[in-house]
Amino acid sequence: MGQVFAYLVHRDGVLDDAAMELINAAKAISGDAATAIVTGSGIDAVATAAAAIFPNVIKVDNAALAYPNAEVVRKALANVIPAGSIVLFAHNTFSMDCAPGLSIKLGASFVSDIVGIDGVEGSALKVIRQEFGGEVSTHVNVDIAGGAVVAVRPGTFTADESKSAGGTVTDKSADAGDLSANRKFIEIVEPEAGDVDITKADVLISIGRGIEDEENIELAMNLKEAMGNAAEVSCSRPIVDAKWLEPARQVGTSGCTVKPKVYMACGISGSFQHLGGIKGGLIIAINKNPNAPIFQAASVGIVANIIEFLPALTEKIEEM
Ligand SMILES: Cc1cc2nc3c(=O)[nH]c(=O)nc-3n(C[C@H](O)[C@H](O)[C@H](O)COP(=O)(O)OP(=O)(O)OC[C@H]3O[C@@H](n4cnc5c(N)ncnc54)[C@H](O)[C@@H]3O)c2cc1C
Repeated sequence: MGQVFAYLVHRDGVLDDAAMELINAAKAISGDAATAIVTGSGIDAVATAAAAIFPNVIKVDNAALAYPNAEVVRKALANVIPAGSIVLFAHNTFSMDCAPGLSIKLGASFVSDIVGIDGVEGSALKVIRQEFGGEVSTHVNVDIAGGAVVAVRPGTFTADESKSAGGTVTDKSADAGDLSANRKFIEIVEPEAGDVDITKADVLISIGRGIEDEENIELAMNLKEAMGNAAEVSCSRPIVDAKWLEPARQVGTSGCTVKPKVYMACGISGSFQHLGGIKGGLIIAINKNPNAPIFQAASVGIVANIIEFLPALTEKIEEM
């Protein structure tokens, strides 16, 4: 088996939380930590932060890598990663853009959005994916004889937050090769800021399509009132698309990232785009479908109709 690498995403000098999870994904493959790779421009601080988590870090520093342009990052990675390696990404919109083409450049296998690793058997890396909106788990043998590019769903592995690796940073900027690009970075569009800041709430009552009707939003608002200032109402994307709640309340990869103490997912199926926005806290899932994928991410699962459950819980809290 080739060497294992983990590509780390960062923004404004801060590593993505998934970096801490990729180290445990690497250990599930080889028993050892991966070699981390960070790309960008002026990234000494980020490389040092990565070296607190990973024993070996490769940095590729070049002005052409200042923005997350997958075309350029792919070229740089293909030049610094040896053929036959296993390259881990966190599964997100950037990896969807960058990783498949990298596997072609490296002549490696590719598998995306994996939710489990069952180890290596011969030349097969055994991984688990989800199909049909998460209702079916598929066990996949990935041929790693020529290496593999693997995108791991955020939240699949626990984060290693010990930050005591004392790792070594190796500068491979000179090996990045030609980083000219056909795509041009234009701008980063930040999500609209609203009056509500769901990122500060201790408790999020988050509603999804299971709320069924706009007038039922009131059920979540009533529960929030009963809970007091610590709670806020958030939602999945279909609720924003339907204009039932404002975009500032959306949790997920194209919405807000939240880390409340308690996240109540009410009538939310648990897509990776939604779960990608939940970075901590106790997840309590309430869903009428006992096979809903959200139950795999939740610490507490309640099979119930939220239209009945939310008012009943509100009443109990008011009594208390
Ligand atoms: C590029 C891209 C970005 C995206 N970004 C985001 C994002 O940031 N955030 C996000 O949330 N989504 C995002 N999505 C959409 C995402 O893929 C899912 O479609 C979405 O998260 C599903 O929302 P949901 O769980 O509310 O709805 P559904 O998947 O329809 O699930 C509804 C759930 O409610 C349950 N239910 C139905 N009725 C009841 C009831 N009465 N009581 C209890 N349970 C009930 C059902 O069993 C089901 O599990 C994105 C998609 C794309 C392509």
